[in-house]
Amino acid sequence: MTGDQNDPWLLTPGPLTTARETREAMLRDRGSRDEAFLEINNRVCQRLVALVGGEGGYACVPVQGSGTFAVEAAIGTLVPAKGKVLVLVNGAYGARMARICAVLGRSHEVLENAEDEPTDVKALEAKLKSDSAITHVAAVHCETTSGILNPLEDIARAVAKGGRRLLIDAMSSFGALPLDVKAMPCEAVIASSSKCLEGVPGLGFVITSKQALRESAGNAHSLCLDLEDQWRAMTETGQWRFTPPVHVIAALDAAIAQHAEEGGVAGRGARYAENHRILVEGMRELGFETLLPDTMQAPIIVTFHTPQDSNFQFTPFYDRLRDRGYVIYPGKLTKVDSFRIGCIGQVGSEEIHGLIGAVGASLKEMGISH
Ligand SMILES: *Cc1c(COP(=O)(O)O)cnc(C)c1O
Repeated sequence: MTGDQNDPWLLTPGPLTTARETREAMLRDRGSRDEAFLEINNRVCQRLVALVGGEGGYACVPVQGSGTFAVEAAIGTLVPAKGKVLVLVNGAYGARMARICAVLGRSHEVLENAEDEPTDVKALEAKLKSDSAITHVAAVHCETTSGILNPLEDIARAVAKGGRRLLIDAMSSFGALPLDVKAMPCEAVIASSSKCLEGVPGLGFVITSKQALRESAGNAHSLCLDLEDQWRAMTETGQWRFTPPVHVIAALDAAIAQHAEEGGVAGRGARYAENHRILVEGMRELGFETLLPDTMQAPIIVTFHTPQDSNFQFTPFYDRLRDRGYVIYPGKLTKVDSFRIGCIGQVGSEEIHGLIGAVGASLKEMGISH
């Protein structure tokens, strides 16, 4: 699909394979205070808000950096110093939000489920009832550690019923799985340029209620990561406070145009679901087992158990796939030996079929029979 076939296909959680048009949008130098760039910037922000149905009440506040910068900015800005965050953890990205709270000195507590279990919404409801100090709940939509899909609508309902505010790390689902802030009450949705939107890395963003932004003046622990300050400056001047990643934003503008052409969230989600189906069927035929049952699995990234065969080692397997043009990802689970293969990025059924062929050939070379 990219046509640049000296590069391998990136079947990872990101950065991902991007379209040539997306990369070509970076072949120009644009001044950060120039009208041509400001128009692109404004369009990108508006389209991101529209992707989650936030027109009117929500604003997109962009932040330089990777996705984690936006998560830290959201927690630091939206949670006041005397707030308390209940962090829902069933993988590394939930755990990272708890760590951010600890580093920022925000009072917090963790509600933990195992890495192969979705968030327990009953336990969440009970916790909200029993601890009136909790002001915010932080949840991960698709926990990329395992690839599990958390029950976001049920979580949002429980949080709204408990009268608390919900911050969603939608990093690995934004643009591919439906999320509508009108249908599902939440204070903020956090994502980045380089996952399902298929832009290049370098930009995080928070789509958050304007009311919450107004209320959060003075909360932030950091000047660079102060979303309220960034938003106010951008609203007043149309400009970024500090040097924006102009090339990254131009690429994201092109990537969002392609996303719309593909049929928006539904179209992109359908391609990834097909990638996921081919991947799981093909790998199972070769004898691999998925960590998760199909009912818990998001069509984003799949965790496979490492085969028991003594001839199997991840690094030589990885290298053989890399030599055949496919980059996969090591596992991130704390207890189980595993590896991961992504379904996202500018790849389709042809590439996933190609990967399955490469996996079969690599196993044969390594003397592994299933
Ligand atoms: C990728 C990802 C992040 C952010 O990671 P960065 O490396 O900082 O871009 C956060 N949460 C989830 C669920 C992710 O998949």
